[in-house]
Amino acid sequence: MKYVLVTGGVVSGLGKGVTASSIGVVLKACGLRVTSIKIDPYLNTDAGTMSPFEHGEVFVLDDGGEVDLDLGNYERFLDATLTKENNITTGKIYQSVLDKERRGDYLGKTVQVVPHITDAIKDWIESVALIPVDGKQGHADVCVIELGGTVGDIESMPFIEALRQLSFSVGKDNFCLIHVSLIPVLGVVGEQKTKPTQHSVRELRALGLTPHLLACRSAQPLLDNTKEKLTQFCHVPAANILSIHDVPNIWHIPLLLRNQNAHHSILKQLDLLSIATIPDLEAWNRRAETFDNLTDSVRIAMVGKYVGLADSYLSVVKALLHACIACSLKPSIDWIAASDLEDDSAQLTPEAHAAAWKTLRNAECVIVPGGFGDRGIRGMILAAKYARENNVPYLGICLGMQISVIEYARSVLGLERANSTEFDEQTPDPVVIFMPEGSRTHMGSTMRLGSRRTLFQTPDCLTSKLYCNPQYVDERHRHRYEVNPDVIGVLEQAGLKFVGKDETGKRMEVLELPGHPFYVGVQFHPEFKSRPGKPSAPFLGLILSARGQLEAYLGRHQNGS
Ligand code: GLN
Repeated sequence: MKYVLVTGGVVSGLGKGVTASSIGVVLKACGLRVTSIKIDPYLNTDAGTMSPFEHGEVFVLDDGGEVDLDLGNYERFLDATLTKENNITTGKIYQSVLDKERRGDYLGKTVQVVPHITDAIKDWIESVALIPVDGKQGHADVCVIELGGTVGDIESMPFIEALRQLSFSVGKDNFCLIHVSLIPVLGVVGEQKTKPTQHSVRELRALGLTPHLLACRSAQPLLDNTKEKLTQFCHVPAANILSIHDVPNIWHIPLLLRNQNAHHSILKQLDLLSIATIPDLEAWNRRAETFDNLTDSVRIAMVGKYVGLADSYLSVVKALLHACIACSLKPSIDWIAASDLEDDSAQLTPEAHAAAWKTLRNAECVIVPGGFGDRGIRGMILAAKYARENNVPYLGICLGMQISVIEYARSVLGLERANSTEFDEQTPDPVVIFMPEGSRTHMGSTMRLGSRRTLFQTPDCLTSKLYCNPQYVDERHRHRYEVNPDVIGVLEQAGLKFVGKDETGKRMEVLELPGHPFYVGVQFHPEFKSRPGKPSAPFLGLILSARGQLEAYLGRHQNGS
C-alpha cells in the first residue's frame, strides 16, 4: 500500500478536502485504484451528533456511518463507496483503546498516548486502507489520507506522531506528504507572502514530517519568485510546488493539478511511474468547461431550517448541480428560511415575510430538504401547499416528505391538527409517527440509518421511470419518524399515492401526486449518491419538470434504456 498524506497549515478552510480528493482523481485517472481516509481530530466519535449549523451537513454512508461532509467529496470525486471506518476521529481511537484496556488486553501495562494511541491510529489506517471502495476485489494501490485541522493543533498531535511513525515503517517509496498552505497577498498591488507557509513547514519538520509537495492556495497563480523563495526556505523542489489558485468551479482543481504535473511528482515519490498511465481527465475537462459556460439558470427555492450556512445542505446543493448540468442549466438556489414564510413572521418581521414569499412565488421548483426539530415546520407546510396547489414541481426529502403528508392530511382530509409526533406528541391525528428500527429507549440506536431497499409498487410511477428500474432502488436513510401505516388508506383514497415502500410494506418510501407535474416525496436522502455525470433520479426529475422537459425525457428513456 502506498500512502499520500495531505496536511494543512496556516489557516483552516483552505479547501484541503477538495485538494486531497482532486489528488485522488488525478491518480485514479492515471489508472490507479484509490481509496481515502479522513482524520478528524475532534473528540466526537462521529459526526452524527454535530449540528449542521456549526459543522455543515452530516454525510451518511451505505453502512449507516454518519460522517464528516468531506467524505461526501471523496465519494463524489472518486465515485467510491466508503465505510464508516474511513472516517477516523479521536473519539473512535480513544474508545477502541479504552475498550481494550477494560478487557485487560494491555496485560497490566500503563496505557499511554505513545505508544498505545499512536499504535491504534497506525493499525486503523493500515487495515482500513485495505478495504476495497470501488466495487472491485482486492485493495487499492494508493490511499489518500487527509488530516483535518491545522498542523500544530493540540488535538492533532497524536495523529501527526502516528503518521510520522507510519512514514518510517512503510518506507520512503510508499509515502508522499503534501502540505496545503496559504500564500496571502497584502495590499492592492501587494506581494505574495511566503512567510506563513515557511513557518508551517518548519512546524511540520519539527514534528518529524517533511513535505514532498506544497499545494499553495492563493488568489492568483504563484509567481516564479514566490516559488523560488518557497524552494529555498522549505526544501521542496520547484517542480513540487503547486499553485492552487482560485478557479471558477471546483472541477477545475484536478485539471489544475494535472496541468502542473502533480501526478508526476507524486508517482515519482511513490515509485509508481512505471505502472501509471497518462492521466485521462477528458470527462472532468468537459464538465468544468460546460459549467463555466452555462448561461440559462433555473430558479430553485430551498425551504429549510439551516439556511444560514450553505454547507448544511452541501450534498443537496451538489445533487442539484449534477442534475442541472445534465440539463445544461445553471442552478440558481434561493434559500428561504422556512420560518419567514409563517403567518407570525408577517407581524414580527414583515419585510422578511414578504421577501420569502416573493422568492417562493418566483421559483421554478421547490425543495424541502431533511431536518430535525420543529423550527420552521409551519413555513415548510405552507411551501408544500403552495407547490401542490400551484402545480410547481416539488421535491420533499425525508422531513420534506413528512411535511407533504402533514400538509395533505390538513388541507385535503380536513384534519386540521394532523401532525408528526416529533412536533406534537398530543396530536389527535398522528400522520407521521416514531418508527425506530432498533431500540425505542436508546437514543443512539433509534435512527434508521444507511442503505435500505425501496420496492416500487408499480412500474408506472415517475420515480421508478426516473431511476430506470421498475422494481427497486437502494438509497441512504437517516430518520426516526415515518408515515403512519394506519393512514395510508385514507391518504391514497384522497389521491396521494405511496409508490415506493420498504420490503415489509410498512414503511413508506416514496410518494407521488398523480395529476401534478412533479410532486414527489422521498423518505430517503437521494443526494448522498448523486455523482457528477450520474445525477440522482429525483433531482433530475425535479429540474426537468421545472423546465417542462420531464415527459419528453421519459419518452426518450422508456424501459430503463
Ligand atoms: N426529523 C425527521 C425524522 O427523524 C426527518 C429526518 C430527516 O429529514 N433526515 O424522521
